[in-house]
Amino acid sequence: MKRVALHWQILAALILATLTGVFFRILFGSDAPEGTFVSRALEFSKFIGDLFMQGLKMIIVPLIVTSVISGIASLQGVKGFGRLGGKTFAFYACSSMVAVVTGLLLVNLVQPGLVDGQPNEVIRAAFDEKAAAASDADKAKVAEASQRKAGDFLDTFKLMVPENVFKAATNNGQMLGVIVFSLLFAIAITRLPADEMRTLREFFQAGNDVMITVTRWIMAVSPIGVYALMFPVIFKNGPDVYAEMLKYFGTVLLALGCHLFITLPLVLHFVAKVNPLDHFRAMRDALLLAFSTASSSGTLPVTMRCIQDKAGVSKRTASFTLPLGATVNMDGTALYECVAVIFVAQVMGIQMGFGEQFFVITAALLTSIGVAGVPSASLVAILLILKNSNVPNAETAVVALLAVDRLLDMARTAVNVFGDSCAAIVIAKSEGEELFTGKPAEEPA
Ligand code: ASP
Repeated sequence: MKRVALHWQILAALILATLTGVFFRILFGSDAPEGTFVSRALEFSKFIGDLFMQGLKMIIVPLIVTSVISGIASLQGVKGFGRLGGKTFAFYACSSMVAVVTGLLLVNLVQPGLVDGQPNEVIRAAFDEKAAAASDADKAKVAEASQRKAGDFLDTFKLMVPENVFKAATNNGQMLGVIVFSLLFAIAITRLPADEMRTLREFFQAGNDVMITVTRWIMAVSPIGVYALMFPVIFKNGPDVYAEMLKYFGTVLLALGCHLFITLPLVLHFVAKVNPLDHFRAMRDALLLAFSTASSSGTLPVTMRCIQDKAGVSKRTASFTLPLGATVNMDGTALYECVAVIFVAQVMGIQMGFGEQFFVITAALLTSIGVAGVPSASLVAILLILKNSNVPNAETAVVALLAVDRLLDMARTAVNVFGDSCAAIVIAKSEGEELFTGKPAEEPA
């Protein structure tokens, strides 16, 4: 019997989770008092979902270290490394900039926080209501976030050079340090006599092969993980959650859609000469997983597999661009931050002029570098920008946004992952690599 392709399995899991989530909601209402069947089902689902997410996170450090080192230290890595870095960062900066400007234009055009040119009082009241009803965890998160200063985000650059690389490896938020260390290690290998380095190279290559196998095992159970993650989300977020903020949701989704379905495909078509549809097809496992997990870091192992196995990008380019991209390049997040900040300002009756909006763009670009690839991470940055723009009631607004964040988070995470994958394609093409041939690419030795 022919095996059903993984993306169909994940899609089926998403649909099934939606159907059962809605069914449970209709049957039992949106409350799930402790000890009831529904609450047990939700707890069990959450347990399995957490296991799956932890499985993805578990493989990140060994996978990244072995793949960066074996990818860069391979023979092709000897030359052109600075060029590769320069191109990657230039692409990341430009694509995030276009994303933010798309968000800015749409939020000014649609003005989701205003009615007839005046601040929307209904949304304002909904903010207060949602903030009052928010979970303690959400409130605590925002209270903690409001302690953060602008400098905390600039500390991201400090994380690039960790004091202790093992400590960085044990801390989820400090992957950047691990990546930079692995890059240095790999470049050093290419600078030393090839004979002496052979054992070391083979060691990391073998380690990477092992980690790829483990990744495939985890991918194989991803439909179960996706179901378990999505079922509670659908159960808890009925359509009523979005009622007052429909225009805002529409604006964010429209802006993300423009970036995902227009800007990035145009770049693929004109710059990389790659058929965007082929690329969407190659990345569908990663996109679906990004959408279901709302974590670009968690999705990274799958993004790396898709880009190499299905799009044919070399291991060298993939291991350079993707881990960096998952930590510093977030097109969807930057766009979202910009829309959210201006929306809240509109609701609070603050008219932002050119100068203020310019500040928001710059802050969104810079903070998106420091936002971690985990669910709802950008809300912290949004709070910071709001406070620095002197928008009143920023905390209340952010607690309210956090309470309705899941759907938007899923969408922007998919955009984040797709943006990274387009960077990998453009860079690979510019390095003269042969891409997508319709059949899985050969793994470079
Ligand atoms: N959830 C997003 C990601 O992992 C980050 C965010 O915008 O909150 O890419």
